[in-house]
Amino acid sequence: MIRLTAEQESFRRAVAKFVDAEVVPAAEAIDERAEFPTRLFRRLGELGYLGLRYPEAYGGADADMVTYCLFAEELARGSLSVAAAAAMQSLMGTYFVYKYGSEELRRRYLVPALRGDLVATFALTEPNAGSDVASIATRAQRRGDRYVLRGTKTWVTSAPVADVLTVAAKTSEERGMRSIALFLLDRATMRGITLGKAIDKMSVRGSVTGEILLEDVEVPAEHLLGGETGGVEKIGGILSEIRVMTAAISVGLARAAYGAALAYARERVAFGKPIAEHQAIGFKLADMLTSLHAAILMTYQAAAQLDAGNVIAREAAMTKLFASETAVRITDEAARIFASYGLAMEYPVQRYFRDARFLLPGGGTSEILRVIIGRDLDWDRGQAFA
Ligand SMILES: Cc1cc2nc3c(=O)[nH]c(=O)nc-3n(C[C@H](O)[C@H](O)[C@H](O)COP(=O)(O)OP(=O)(O)OC[C@H]3O[C@@H](n4cnc5c(N)ncnc54)[C@H](O)[C@@H]3O)c2cc1C
Repeated sequence: MIRLTAEQESFRRAVAKFVDAEVVPAAEAIDERAEFPTRLFRRLGELGYLGLRYPEAYGGADADMVTYCLFAEELARGSLSVAAAAAMQSLMGTYFVYKYGSEELRRRYLVPALRGDLVATFALTEPNAGSDVASIATRAQRRGDRYVLRGTKTWVTSAPVADVLTVAAKTSEERGMRSIALFLLDRATMRGITLGKAIDKMSVRGSVTGEILLEDVEVPAEHLLGGETGGVEKIGGILSEIRVMTAAISVGLARAAYGAALAYARERVAFGKPIAEHQAIGFKLADMLTSLHAAILMTYQAAAQLDAGNVIAREAAMTKLFASETAVRITDEAARIFASYGLAMEYPVQRYFRDARFLLPGGGTSEILRVIIGRDLDWDRGQAFA
C-alpha cells in the first residue's frame, strides 16, 4: 500500500493551495496568449519547487520522487502548460549539468536555473530524428580546446525563452548511437545559436516550443557533459523519472477533467433529471474514475520504487503508457459529457482535451513504450508488489 508521510501530505496541500490561488485563475489566459508563463515560472523558483530533486547545496530541496510527483500532479491539475515548462526546468533541462557538469558549471547554470532566473532546456529531437535517436544529424567537431556544433533541433520546449540548452550531438561519423554526446550551450555567451521556427500548437500552448539552429557554435571543451560517447545511456539515467513524472502530470490533468465532468453531470438536467443519473453518463463517470484510480496507484507505486533505488525501466514505461492514455480517454469522455459545451472556449474542458495530446509523444510515444514493454514479457505477480 502506498501511504504518504505526514510531510508529503502537508507538502501536497501547500502545492494544491498555491495552484488554486495562483495557477487555476491564470490558466485560461496562459493558453489563450500562448506565451511562456514567466511570472508563474519565477514564483515556482521562489517557492523552491524547481529545485525539488536537487541537493540543498545548490538551492534544492533534496525531495524524493513521490514528493516531486505530488508537485507535478497538482501543478498539472491547474495548468498543463505551466507543468510542462516546470518539468523541463526541474528535470531534463538541469539534470545533465548537475550530474556531469563541473562545480563551476553547476554554480553558473544550475543554481540560477533552480531559482527560476535562467530558463534551461534539453534538445535532442531533430526534423528527421524523433523516436529514432540514432539518426540525429547534429555534429560536434573538436577543434583545439573547443567543439564546433552544427545542426538543427526542433520541438525544443521553452526554445524561444531558453538561456541554456543541453544539446545532443554526434562526435563522430560512425553509425548508431555510441558517439552521441551532450553539450551545455549558453545563449548569452556563445555565438551561432538562433531561434528557428516557433511551433504554433493546439496543446500546452503556454509551454512554448520551437526550433533551434546551431550554426558553427563554438563550445568550450568543459561544456561537454560526461565524455564524447554514451549520451544515450546518460539520457537513460533519467528516463524512468521522466516517464513517471509524465504519468503524474497525466493524473493531474485527468483529475481536473474528471472533476469538471462530474460537477457538470450533476448540474445539467435532461429529460427531467441530472444527466449523471442517466446510466450512460453514470457508467462513463464510473469508468473514468476507475482508470484514474488505477493511474494514481501505478504512478505512486513507480515513484516509490524509484525512491527505493529500484531499476524500473519496464514499469516506468507501463506507467507512462497507462496514465497518458488514461488522460487522453478521460479528457475525451469529459468533453462528451459537456456535449456542445465541450467545444465552447468559455469552459476549460476543451483545453483539457487539447492539452492531453501533449502527453503522448514526450518520454516515448505509446508505440515505442509498447516496444520497450514487449522486450521483456516475462512476469510474476510478485513484481507488482516490489
Ligand atoms: C509539446 C512537445 C514538446 C517537446 N519537447 C521536446 C524537447 O524539449 N526536447 C526534445 O528533444 N524533444 C521534444 N519533443 C519531441 C518528442 O520527444 C518527439 O516528438 C518524440 O520523440 C517523437 O518523435 P516524432 O514526433 O519525430 O515522431 P516519430 O519518431 O517520427 O514517430 C512517428 C510515429 O511512428 C511511430 N514509430 C516510430 N518508430 C517506431 C517503432 N520503432 N515502432 C513502432 N512505432 C514507431 C511513433 O510512435 C509515431 O506514432 C517534444 C514534443 C512535443 C509534442
